[in-house]
Amino acid sequence: MPQSDLNYPCKPYFPEHMTTETDAIPANFIRNMIEKDVADNKHNKLVATRFPPEPNGYLHLGHAKSICLNFGIAEEFDGWTNLRFDDTNPDKESEEYMSAIKRDVAWLGFTWKSLCYASDYFDQLYDFAVGLVKDNLAYVDSLSSDEIREYRGSLKEPGKESPYRNRSVEQNLTLLNEMKNGEHDEGEHVLRLKIDMASSNINMRDPAIYRIKKTHHYRTGDKWNIYPLYDYTHCLSDAIEGITHSLCTLEFEDHRPLYNWVLEKTQPEGRPEQTEFGPLNLEYTVLSKRKLIQLVQSGIVNGWDDPRLPTLAGLRRRGYTPDSIREFCRRIGITKSAAVIEMQVLENCVRDELNETAERRMAVLDPVKVVITTWPQDNVEPLSMANHPGNTDLGRRTVNFGRELYIERSDFEEVPPPKFKRLISGGEVRLRSAYVIRCDEVIKDRDGNITELHCSHDPDTLGKKPEGRKVKGVIHWVNAAEAIAADVRLYDRLFSRPDPLAEEDFTDAINPESLSVHENAFVEPSVADAAAGTRFQFERQGYFVVDDDATAAKLVMNRIVSLKDNWSG
Ligand code: ATP
Ligand code: MG
Repeated sequence: MPQSDLNYPCKPYFPEHMTTETDAIPANFIRNMIEKDVADNKHNKLVATRFPPEPNGYLHLGHAKSICLNFGIAEEFDGWTNLRFDDTNPDKESEEYMSAIKRDVAWLGFTWKSLCYASDYFDQLYDFAVGLVKDNLAYVDSLSSDEIREYRGSLKEPGKESPYRNRSVEQNLTLLNEMKNGEHDEGEHVLRLKIDMASSNINMRDPAIYRIKKTHHYRTGDKWNIYPLYDYTHCLSDAIEGITHSLCTLEFEDHRPLYNWVLEKTQPEGRPEQTEFGPLNLEYTVLSKRKLIQLVQSGIVNGWDDPRLPTLAGLRRRGYTPDSIREFCRRIGITKSAAVIEMQVLENCVRDELNETAERRMAVLDPVKVVITTWPQDNVEPLSMANHPGNTDLGRRTVNFGRELYIERSDFEEVPPPKFKRLISGGEVRLRSAYVIRCDEVIKDRDGNITELHCSHDPDTLGKKPEGRKVKGVIHWVNAAEAIAADVRLYDRLFSRPDPLAEEDFTDAINPESLSVHENAFVEPSVADAAAGTRFQFERQGYFVVDDDATAAKLVMNRIVSLKDNWSG
């Protein structure tokens, strides 16, 4: 290795808590429970899970946690996992969202056993509902939605029974059939379970299970004028598919009695059991499709795959790898309570991976020209550089040294602050893997802006320390004659406070400087042909990926993450 590589200031970054692949998957209460179920021969030792998103938006990191848990735990116990679209709300759902969700689950590296749709069960769900009416366990209510809300009571007060609660079974069957056939208008009636209006659990106060909705459904067309609601649909879909362990986030804890009530009363073949775990919350962002859609629709971000978003599509475009996201889910683990995770935990996962795998390159984001006055006009010297400091398998490349170069504007100071180790007037610095240069003259325009630095090189310093003096700084550079122009996009936190939802309107907490673009950046020629999605470490700058917007005419790169964590220190 040339000596200049040895004293290069940017060492590979190993955070203290870096884990290795040999670390066991952390213990968690769900695994313990399932181990016991299998030992007790429950569900014939089968572990069958599902991931059940509503196709009303793109998946985010919270979903990744749920996906890794559901697919991971089933895989561990030789079971299986279904991907199920909970598509009972046709107004808000679309095919676009379904394809994005399938793509993202597959991108994370998981394979579902069956692709399922709650809408495939609409006939069965309706038959179960008719059964409940016949058993006098469900009734058609004709109160308005406001009245229903009013009658429901509150946490302190019991609810009141609807005057329609005691309709006869025949009346209910007739009305339900008419609702189904489209003979009533939206909002006229709902089908409710007959449970207990005085229950301390509001979810048990005669929840509605069907509402009239005359919306075209992208799968069932115009067949249905009524659509089943979440709680009723979910447990029965689990049962129909033979799911054994229905894992969901904590907000469904109070819905578990209803989940069990419906199964007990309808007696489907399968007997899934619901267990709740703590949802993921991440600082400086929001994890909810309903919130994310507001950012997309208002144009605050540029689409669902905006690299600032915590969506899987956004993270992919930002340059995150599926492995780094799975590693993140492993590091945060599964707990019974909700946790707020620091952004650094996520960033460290991709940093640790790319430190090992990304080829090194040089790029200058904010260039100033350096003219090596001692270098003959047309002389070009090929220099061989390692693509990775630790992995020789990644090979070497040739970078040409020439008379005109670019360096980072911030690597030169006329009036240097204390301990500044880079280039100063009359001072020396080493160019990475090349020569030591001295700045002899600073050229400025009329307004006093530096336009060029005229330097001389010491020909005796290629791969060698200079004689009789110490040169501490090493900076990166790009040969002007063959530099490739690039737009380099740097991203910062999307929100300027860790808890944007504490704001009355969370969009008020948007960080106005979450995106900055360097439009005059230059990169080494070897980056020019890299396909979209190729990742590099730009020495001293961070990890970068070629963006989908890159064309033959203009290279566009995104910074995935800086080399070191700039936020925790
Ligand atoms: P919406 O805002 O529309 O409710 P969502 O982001 O909550 O969307 P869902 O489609 O409701 O997404 O959730 C699909 C599955 O992902 C559910 O099983 C849910 O428990 C799980 N999930 C959603 N958010 C998180 C999260 N932050 N952490 C872990 N799991 C989550
Ligand atoms: Mg939700």
